[in-house]
Amino acid sequence: MATKTEFKAESKRLLEMMINSIYTQKEIFLRELISNSSDAIDKIYYKALTDDSLTFEKDNYYIKLSADKDSRTLKITDTGIGMTKEELETNLGVIAKSGSLAFKSENELKDGHDIIGQFGVGFYSAFMVADVVTVISKALGSDQAYKWESEGAEGYTIEPVEKDFIGTEIILKVKENSEDENYDEFLEEHRLRGIIKKYSDFIRYPIKMDVTVQRPKDDNEEELEDVQEEETINSMVPIWRKNKNELTDEDYENFYAEKHYGFDKPLKHIHLSVDGMIRYNSILYIPEQAPFNFYTKEYEKGLELYSNGVLIMNKCADLLPDYFSFVKGMVDSEDLSLNISRELLQHDRQLKVIAKNIKSKIKSNLLSMLKDEREKYEQFYKSFGTQLKYGVYSDFGSHKDVLQDLLMFYSSTEKKLVTLDEYVSRMPEDQKYIYYAAGESNERIEKLPQTELVADKGYEILYFTDDVDEFAIKMLMNYKEKEFKSVSSGDLGFETEDQTNEETENDNKELFDYMNEVLADKVKNVRASKRLKSHPVCIATEGEVTVEMEKILQQMPD
Ligand code: ADP
Ligand code: MG
Repeated sequence: MATKTEFKAESKRLLEMMINSIYTQKEIFLRELISNSSDAIDKIYYKALTDDSLTFEKDNYYIKLSADKDSRTLKITDTGIGMTKEELETNLGVIAKSGSLAFKSENELKDGHDIIGQFGVGFYSAFMVADVVTVISKALGSDQAYKWESEGAEGYTIEPVEKDFIGTEIILKVKENSEDENYDEFLEEHRLRGIIKKYSDFIRYPIKMDVTVQRPKDDNEEELEDVQEEETINSMVPIWRKNKNELTDEDYENFYAEKHYGFDKPLKHIHLSVDGMIRYNSILYIPEQAPFNFYTKEYEKGLELYSNGVLIMNKCADLLPDYFSFVKGMVDSEDLSLNISRELLQHDRQLKVIAKNIKSKIKSNLLSMLKDEREKYEQFYKSFGTQLKYGVYSDFGSHKDVLQDLLMFYSSTEKKLVTLDEYVSRMPEDQKYIYYAAGESNERIEKLPQTELVADKGYEILYFTDDVDEFAIKMLMNYKEKEFKSVSSGDLGFETEDQTNEETENDNKELFDYMNEVLADKVKNVRASKRLKSHPVCIATEGEVTVEMEKILQQMPD
């Protein structure tokens, strides 16, 4: 007898949230289930190709849909790797990646940015259209099949069942129509066909369906009758093998969603078909939003890696430099060996060439976005600018050539983000340095006494509000031969009004002595400054480390 196991509390909550909010379009449940089937076939196919003891024909891999209006069931069958009893429990019984759920409750929907929508809840989307979901699965290498069944938030049961071949069968008991929701459509042949074409056309295994066709009755050419015939619905050509001209933005966006590269709409896609010494196809995306864990250790960069159409790695980190870790997408190359191990991959010459090529393509695409689609670029920069600046800072500034033209900072005169190139091209002849001021926010920096002299000269000041800014600039050192200069630095590089320090200091000796005494454990020295105009006082540091940098350095763990 099957016993009922309750979902973990968090899965329960997630399930409810998902059904009610994440996916506004119900139809995507099919995309999710088909992509799980395709993943499962990827796994068994890869095993078969790399393990001599398994012999499989490519024809043996398929996904099949059958709809039955009488019983209101929709069945999705695949010949993938299947799931053991344990796998049914862990994969479908709990949502393992629920770290993101904890994150969400701490950070209730900031910026209208839906965190819950940022992680894979693929399988559960079946409950958007079904009252009961049944999964019958037999895993590769196992003799016993199991049936997992659930009516949604209440929990699930598992019991042993008979099943002939390895793979998985998912049976949805499609919901009854309600006043404002139509579910019947998910049992309709033409509707299902439409959904497959829209989201899953490029799945590399056949998605078959029994369709009704009209055929001549017996040998009578005139009279037609309805017969059921199995048809492959998808074209099976992976999107990356298609010609760019045949593809629309929507195709690329659908592929992005299908692959769960992100739940946002990508800002840009880059489709590469390289046919030189090393042949490869690649589709890369610049996302719009940073994933919720992007600036944490949990975030894993990487591109999907295929060898001649067979997935060999989900996240190949070696294909992306850290400073472009936000890029999503895939690479497929005929020139890579299937059996290549992770360690070998790191030293693979072909892979290195591909990675280098990809890096320069990303750079040139970002530059052209900056030039031609300024608004988009600013959106991109809002999400990922900090990462670029970390890139400049890391490895002792060795990536500055790649990155310096992609940087932007808020400008005191333009009142918006500007590039270094724009700044330098506006510099008056007598201006020696690129000036910057660091602080918590633009508003605060605006009020800094130290900005006054430079601003009065009519010079533009870049505002540094990100912790990493000043550190990055220190690595950059200069841009187009112009050095950077903090507005609080001792020597600003131009003559200031002639009221000498000594004079002021001597005239007020008593006052300065007194101040130095009172503040002895707070500051090193109180002295007259020729830097101030309308403000009575400011804090300055000696040497190259500014007050802002000191603050950050002090916060850093030892
Ligand atoms: P994701 O696909 O992002 O991992 P899902 O919720 O879609 O998340 O699926 C959860 C897990 O269940 C999958 O990672 C996979 O291990 C397993 N699974 C789902 N469907 C199948 C299937 N048809 N065959 C084999 N395993 C599956
Ligand atoms: Mg999935």
